[in-house]
Amino acid sequence: MKRVYLDNNATTMTSLEAAKEMVRFNSINYGNPSSLHNFGLDTRPELRKAMDRIYALINAADEDDVLITSGATEANNHVIKSVFYANTDTSTPLSVRKNHYITTNLEHPTVYNTFQYLEKLGAKVTVLPSDNNGLISAEQVKKALTDQTVLVSIMLANNEIGTILPIKEITKLCHANGILIHTDATQAIGKFPVDVQDLGVDYLSFSAHKFHGPKGIGGLYVRKGKRLEPLFHGGEQMASLRAGTLNVPGIVGMGVAAQEAVASLEYEATEVKRLRDKLENFILKNIPDTFLNGDKVKRTPNTLNIAFKDCEGEALLWDLNEHGIAASTGSACASEELESSRILRALGIDKALSHMAVRFSLSRYTTEEEIDYVISVLPGIIKRLREVSLGR
Ligand SMILES: *Cc1c(COP(=O)(O)O)cnc(C)c1O
Repeated sequence: MKRVYLDNNATTMTSLEAAKEMVRFNSINYGNPSSLHNFGLDTRPELRKAMDRIYALINAADEDDVLITSGATEANNHVIKSVFYANTDTSTPLSVRKNHYITTNLEHPTVYNTFQYLEKLGAKVTVLPSDNNGLISAEQVKKALTDQTVLVSIMLANNEIGTILPIKEITKLCHANGILIHTDATQAIGKFPVDVQDLGVDYLSFSAHKFHGPKGIGGLYVRKGKRLEPLFHGGEQMASLRAGTLNVPGIVGMGVAAQEAVASLEYEATEVKRLRDKLENFILKNIPDTFLNGDKVKRTPNTLNIAFKDCEGEALLWDLNEHGIAASTGSACASEELESSRILRALGIDKALSHMAVRFSLSRYTTEEEIDYVISVLPGIIKRLREVSLGR
């Protein structure tokens, strides 16, 4: 049976080059870089090479920090809780402590749920509502600012619908008001150029397994001079900001993936987008009662979220899977529950239709033949499911 993987926003295949390098650092160069013997010392130049590649991926300056984490979940939790801790620290004078945070209803659960938790600890949080296209404007942020606002956290690109938010403009606004800005760039890296100097953000999160690196490794960019509290206390790794033995195979694997991601950006913008558009145009033109979710233009080149009226999303996924095609109804974490997507509801899509949406997410490994195969089987699947659901 064919196997077509169109769920790259949930995770990607680790590139062969990245996987090969990781084997070497698990089995031959397995030393702990903190050790003072050659097993440890030998890993240090390799780590430096990998870090250089990771810095280049986001154009970080030498003086900036990139904290290696277990992924974007940790990076998002780390930065948001760090700012909260710094502002509740009893050694910080009461007069300079602030307690208001701004985020959006489009955020990944790792940001959204972290703020919900902090609210229980006393933080004041404004959750900006998305418009019907899945966009947030700088104007909305401006209206929500108060003299108590300390941090704005807004994603660069959305995982379910792919919309790209105006972070550069929002950053200018924040900085004009002395407010910190964090962006979750997990769905942007490898899909379009991400440049921390151009964006100007103070903190930025990313995760290797979303750009053909290994799982369980990612990072938090911290602009020079910006405060960060440790989340894990312990050893002195990562300047005592993140205790724990360095995941050397993971860092090296992420370094290779970072280099390949930069080299593939042009291909993403042209070929991956062409294949995504081919699938999108076919569905919208040839399958009646189908609706694109999210902005058609301000969107990552690989993502397609479509509602098929009178066709239950979970049933469609099942049938696609029977044909060897992997897609998703939303974020991988949410699809285990039968709740409809919070993101689609944020777009104002009615509840019934939000249950009929499917996300196809491509990668640089997606082939034209695979897209043609999907195009050849999809109309039949939809027709049959609609006959069942409409009782015809
Ligand atoms: C996948 C994802 C995360 C979580 O990343 P992990 O590395 O799997 O913890 C966070 N934010 C967004 C937007 C994501 O797509």
